[in-house]
Amino acid sequence: VKIRVLDHGYVEFVEAWGHGSAMLAINEGDGWDNEVGIIEAARQSTQGSFRGWKEDEKLLATLFNHQSNQSTPFEAAGMTIEVQAPIMVFREWQRHRTQSYNEASARYKALPDFYYWPEAISTFERAKEAQNTTNKQAGGEATVLNAPEVVSWLKQVSEFYQFAESLYQYGLKIGIPKELARITMPVGHYSRMRATANLRNWLAFLTLRLDEKAQWEIRQFAEAVAQIVQHHFPHTWKLFVASFNSRR
Ligand SMILES: Cc1cc2nc3c(=O)[nH]c(=O)nc-3n(C[C@H](O)[C@H](O)[C@H](O)COP(=O)(O)OP(=O)(O)OC[C@H]3O[C@@H](n4cnc5c(N)ncnc54)[C@H](O)[C@@H]3O)c2cc1C
Repeated sequence: VKIRVLDHGYVEFVEAWGHGSAMLAINEGDGWDNEVGIIEAARQSTQGSFRGWKEDEKLLATLFNHQSNQSTPFEAAGMTIEVQAPIMVFREWQRHRTQSYNEASARYKALPDFYYWPEAISTFERAKEAQNTTNKQAGGEATVLNAPEVVSWLKQVSEFYQFAESLYQYGLKIGIPKELARITMPVGHYSRMRATANLRNWLAFLTLRLDEKAQWEIRQFAEAVAQIVQHHFPHTWKLFVASFNSRR
């Protein structure tokens, strides 16, 4: 499953785990039940095993709702995804230090020619929103957002990207090493990585990055991660959504 995000980005499912020793299929032909391992991990304390979701849904909810002292069983499940996103999104994403990352090397391989170019309408809306907030904080002092200036700025960003790319390619052509030629790359340039984390960790990531306070771009990637988590960990997902919505 590859979910497209922004103009050149994506989140692609690689693998999920957590089926424990029961190895039950979620739906026929649709992978294993990756949440049985969570119950098995919790029952280690009494040497018990998975009893079926009819009974164990309740145990899962208890574990989830007492996160401060019973959340470690959610570390018995997890997943790996592949992500292509602008470097500025990776700067934010990789602050989640307890995920594991492997990113494409710009030292050994020339970078692909992908740059993030935001849409004009959403850029204008965001500028307007930011300006309203600033105006309110400044005691209602009005400044007027100029649409042609926003459009002109976007056009210049596009020209700047073209220049950055041509300078990078020129550097490579005359023999500048890839590791040095990349100094021309802006944070709007795309990079690619694999990210691995346990389920507890993915939920912590989603709590922070689905939130309205998170930057719009990383939120779009978090929405894609959420779709994948929902598919592979449906019981936990239901609990997460209820808890996430109750905090709003
Ligand atoms: C809206 C928003 C704005 C942000 N703005 C900024 C910003 O301006 N500047 C900036 O630098 N970051 C910023 N961040 C990043 C933020 O500070 C966290 O680094 C990021 O959200 C990852 O969270 P985390 O540390 O809980 O995750 P992880 O790094 O995955 O850590 C998970 C948990 O492990 C524990 N842990 C991990 N490392 C340590 C450690 N060294 N010592 C003790 N406990 C540890 C903590 O309990 C932590 O919650 C922002 C994040 C958000 C969501």
